[in-house]
Amino acid sequence: MSDEEVGRPDSQRESSTGTEPSAGKRPPLPEGMSRNAWKREQKKQKWLEQKDARNKYKKEKKKQKKLEKKEQQQQSEIESDQGEEGKLENNVDASDVGHVVKAGKNDMAQPAPITILIDCGFDDLMTEKENLSLSSQITRCYSENRRAAVPVDMKITSFDGRLLERFDSALKQQYKNWKGISFSPSEYEVPESDEDRSRIIYLSSDSDDTLTVLEDNKIYIVGGIVDKGRYKSLCLNKANSQKIKTAKLPISEFIKISGRKVLTTNHVVEIMLKWIELRDWKQAFELVIPPRKQEGFESARMKRKREASLREEDSRSDMEDSKNGETSKEVPGDVK
Ligand code: SAH
Repeated sequence: MSDEEVGRPDSQRESSTGTEPSAGKRPPLPEGMSRNAWKREQKKQKWLEQKDARNKYKKEKKKQKKLEKKEQQQQSEIESDQGEEGKLENNVDASDVGHVVKAGKNDMAQPAPITILIDCGFDDLMTEKENLSLSSQITRCYSENRRAAVPVDMKITSFDGRLLERFDSALKQQYKNWKGISFSPSEYEVPESDEDRSRIIYLSSDSDDTLTVLEDNKIYIVGGIVDKGRYKSLCLNKANSQKIKTAKLPISEFIKISGRKVLTTNHVVEIMLKWIELRDWKQAFELVIPPRKQEGFESARMKRKREASLREEDSRSDMEDSKNGETSKEVPGDVK
């Protein structure tokens, strides 16, 4: 069944084939009901049965639209940043101090001699939507690195398949103007010698080892995959088979998060950038991991609920107090 068909009731699909279900399979006509009324009733039933699927489909479509919009926004932000940098380079509009500070800050930044490599060799394992999400995450990684106080050398490998197609078409090849980043259609190279290989660390939440610091002259690989937990240990196994060291971020040593400790590609990259700037894991985690994932976080809705129940409790105990009180003051509900 195609995506487009999910939202369509079966009755329409059947009639489009021109074949009626065989009379033998049809439920018997209830007594006193006309054939047409019975057909209408059955159509209605089917329509109701498919309501959940239809709603799910609509929700997915909406999410996808939102993601596409976000991605376009990110791209135009990058474009306008680049425009400002261009202006600055040509020394035009130098009176625009606000922009000078914004672009200048990053231009002055000394990059760290550290490479963050995003391994995109998992194209086939992702759905269309996950692929879209990954392209948006890569865009985010790039713009965070451009704005970082201490940027790194960034590399994107296995940049081909549907991902490349997306960057080439929907995203209009803008990545070709990006600076401080390289894109390669092939897989990263695994060095032959143990010494060279030991400069590479593949990040994986499934690793037994934990990062303590990020070191100069090392290459940190982050898996470029969105899989909603489908492929456990995928990157760990890949790195092991290539005899590359692995390590997880020291999350539990510094903060408590609810749920799984598998973060998105862009969050991992952003945490590393923040650590390089601040040399402080706790701050890096707190600044990057969304508050709703951090334990102890209370959403505005949860807060309203908690406060309402506190108020209710208060007024209940006020009532109790006044009922049991020794004073003869008149209180609501006091019957004389
Ligand atoms: N099933 C995938 C998960 C992808 S999450 C896997 O096998 O890794 C995207 C990437 O972010 C991971 O490949 C990993 O490189 C990085 N990552 C996510 N959470 C991490 C953590 N807690 N520690 C280190 N790296 C992490």
